[in-house]
Amino acid sequence: MMRAARLYAVNDIRVDTVPLPPAPPSGWVRLKVEAAGICGSDLTNFRAGLWITRSPSTAGHEFVATVTELGPDVSGLVAGDRVVTDSRMTCGACTACRTARPQLCAALGYVGEVCDGGFAEETILPARLLHKIPPGLRREIAAMAEPLAVALHTIRRLRVGPDDPILIAGCGTIGGFVALILSKTHRAPILVADNNGERARLVAAVAGARIVSLTLDSVAEALGDVPLLHAVEATGSIAAFEALTTSVAGGGAVALVGIFHDTMKLNPNLLVDRELSFIGCQAFSDELPDAIGLLPSLTPELDRLIDRRITLEEVPETYERLIAGRAQGLKTIILL
Ligand SMILES: [Zn+2]
Ligand SMILES: [Zn+2]
Repeated sequence: MMRAARLYAVNDIRVDTVPLPPAPPSGWVRLKVEAAGICGSDLTNFRAGLWITRSPSTAGHEFVATVTELGPDVSGLVAGDRVVTDSRMTCGACTACRTARPQLCAALGYVGEVCDGGFAEETILPARLLHKIPPGLRREIAAMAEPLAVALHTIRRLRVGPDDPILIAGCGTIGGFVALILSKTHRAPILVADNNGERARLVAAVAGARIVSLTLDSVAEALGDVPLLHAVEATGSIAAFEALTTSVAGGGAVALVGIFHDTMKLNPNLLVDRELSFIGCQAFSDELPDAIGLLPSLTPELDRLIDRRITLEEVPETYERLIAGRAQGLKTIILL
């Protein structure tokens, strides 16, 4: 038997004692989970049930684990390998999958939702989803590979260069990681905004960013005459998105990576008259290996961005704490 945090329904997650996963079928492996991160999308699913397709489902798509058993026909992995998982369950057959755009798979689902995930002592997953990590990497750092890939994908979709000022709305995990990645190479100012002053100050300190509010005046004060042509919406708030559309200069682009709960009315002339571009960013494309490669050099900063290290038993109360906005950092890590 083992312990697992399982989502049953909206507002209903429980830590249960359940049987160990079965022997891995062909192409799958058994994993002993070392650490897992709680994602904003886990909380969204808990609150709104957007992606509940089976119940109960062991949650968790951001985790690092050790391979303990190979199913038939697995190559490239051996017992003892430490791996992080690609969070996406793709069909491999649709047009998007066949043209190397798996994040746009017509049947896209996520680990922890369409199959059991990593908020458990053990799990089984297809070997094709697993990526080995560099030796010696600490488990709580390795557990952040997947959201780092999302941040990397957002930066690449936005096509922001090292001399382009950028404004990031939202200092949660993805917004904070975007600022952190850019801080290593960026020469132009990195501006950040968040209603939570503590989080904004943490990200600003870690990434050398400047805190602004989402207004033209505040941005102009930070940049002077230099136009702001690149922004990231990482809050999921319509108000923040609307503020961003007026904070960027004509010709600017806003990358959207936050998950929204509301719809909005949009005047299309905003895009026509001011030549604005809105760029949707869904998870990541092929950035996970690059994100894993960044982990060793980003370890000191990632360490500072960890909210708390918790046990599996603390998952339900931690969901409540995070939803109430009482995070002290960007990422809560479950140690198993
Ligand atoms: Zn995630
Ligand atoms: Zn597909």
